[in-house]
Amino acid sequence: MGIDIRTVGIVGAGQMGSGIAHVCAMAGLDVRLNDRDPARIRNGLATIDGNLARQVAKGTIIEEQRRGAVGRIVAAESFDDLGGCDLVIEAATEDEATKRQIFSALCGSLRPDALVATNTSSISITRLAASTDRPERFIGIHFMNPVPVMQLVELIRGIATEDPTYESAKAFIAKLGKTSTMSEDFPAFIVNRILLPMINEAIYTLYEGVGSVESIDTAMKLGANHPMGPLQLADFIGLDTCLSVMQVLYEGLADSKYRPCPLLVKYVEAGWLGRKVKRGFYDYRGETPVPTR
Ligand code: NAD
Repeated sequence: MGIDIRTVGIVGAGQMGSGIAHVCAMAGLDVRLNDRDPARIRNGLATIDGNLARQVAKGTIIEEQRRGAVGRIVAAESFDDLGGCDLVIEAATEDEATKRQIFSALCGSLRPDALVATNTSSISITRLAASTDRPERFIGIHFMNPVPVMQLVELIRGIATEDPTYESAKAFIAKLGKTSTMSEDFPAFIVNRILLPMINEAIYTLYEGVGSVESIDTAMKLGANHPMGPLQLADFIGLDTCLSVMQVLYEGLADSKYRPCPLLVKYVEAGWLGRKVKRGFYDYRGETPVPTR
């Protein structure tokens, strides 16, 4: 039997941590939001407040739901404040040493039956589980960005993850009104394993002069019914993130088919990282995006 998840702790109050807190509170769960930087907790709470208020203004939720959700999220300044949680999800910076240090410091504050999860996009679940005192109660819960909007959550089992842990995590995702998929612990899991090589191939198509930025994006939007072209999507994800996922695939699977396109490397070296810096495969500094090649 798995454990019924009612109180959720979140470590890391950045864009993902706040999004996860938002959807948990809206589902009626109690949330404790932690970050090593108290200012990030305050910013996270303010972001959630703003996003919930926007949902009320749009009519997707009512004021009473907003008030209820806000009241269910409390700041947790130390790991001891996470002591009563049934599940703690780590959503801190994507850096293995940081995550390992969090898990070894965190576990002593938790109940022995509490579950621990990571939202990592690329680091091995099995390796992270080894830095906890409970690899059998450890699992990858990979939310997509932006969390309140995206329907999918990938559940990733490490080598030691036990069935009741997986069943509890699956029931938790269902309670959030989201859909989960299960994947084994191999580099980039399912979504990024399939999506990023497609984006990398689109960049090769540009690099080899097969088509322009506009032709490639139009071809995939209208020819494959994708809501966004692959180069537009790469800019949205961030080209540094795209490159790091390709490197994880290339190194983790040791197969040359995953080699990052040299043009992607060049854009990252130039600091043209996509929308977040207003320049990538498109230039976003004007009214309408203009292709940069
Ligand atoms: P972010 O930079 O917005 O937030 C990270 C937060 O972690 C920061 O507030 C930072 O202060 C905090 N932090 C760092 N070290 C900490 C520590 N020792 N203890 C407590 N808090 C600490 O990053 P993000 O985009 O929210 O990403 C978080 C995680 O989610 C990463 O593992 C990332 O790979 C994963 N993820 C990101 C996306 C995405 O599109 N951004 C999508 C899926 C998964």
